[in-house]
Amino acid sequence: SDVGSQKERVVTDEEWLEKWETGNIGFHKEEGHPLLQKYLDVLLNGRSGLRIFFPLCGKAVEMKWLADMGHSVVGVEISEQAVKDFFSEHSLPYCEEPVPEISGAKMFQSTSGNISLYCCSIYDLSSSIVGKFDGVWDRGALVAVNPCDRQHYASLMISLVEKNSSYLLVTVSYDPNKHKGPPFYVPETEIKSLFG
Ligand code: SAH
Repeated sequence: SDVGSQKERVVTDEEWLEKWETGNIGFHKEEGHPLLQKYLDVLLNGRSGLRIFFPLCGKAVEMKWLADMGHSVVGVEISEQAVKDFFSEHSLPYCEEPVPEISGAKMFQSTSGNISLYCCSIYDLSSSIVGKFDGVWDRGALVAVNPCDRQHYASLMISLVEKNSSYLLVTVSYDPNKHKGPPFYVPETEIKSLFG
């Protein structure tokens, strides 16, 4: 678990926006993630009508899936193109409005009201703006965060969840000397120290 080669790497917001502009989005999958299907019961834990958070959401199709099951979905994504593509690719009408607490941020909401996507950096959010969540689907999020920001990210996520929440986290395991990331390799020991 030598992650030395990745520790200093930084992907800027501009680089992410450029990935969306150039269609360099190999991380996006049209099929719902098999691990969400497999662990859906763990996420829901018998509950209905949950508030579920998608950090660094891209245009993840699982947002539509959970909304269709009657949950309320909130996502955050820096790319406005990703957010608009999500709604148009699912033929969902939406409206957009500024977020008074965050300069430059916009919130895109499906007309039906059950999907709200914040277009801003996740580091601009707080529970006073978005409330707290009963469930989290973290796929391509912790592993996409710059290694130097992981601690900040994890404490923010902890501040955004309710006491009885479920947090599904997908990571990838590979030799970090062979690929510069993202996705970054986050060793299990680090996940334990980040989330306790
Ligand atoms: N979770 C999604 C996307 C993974 S790729 C999926 O499963 O498909 C990571 C995404 O995070 C990219 O779309 C990128 O534009 C976005 N992103 C990167 N840094 C961010 C930040 N600080 N705040 C919000 N979104 C960010």
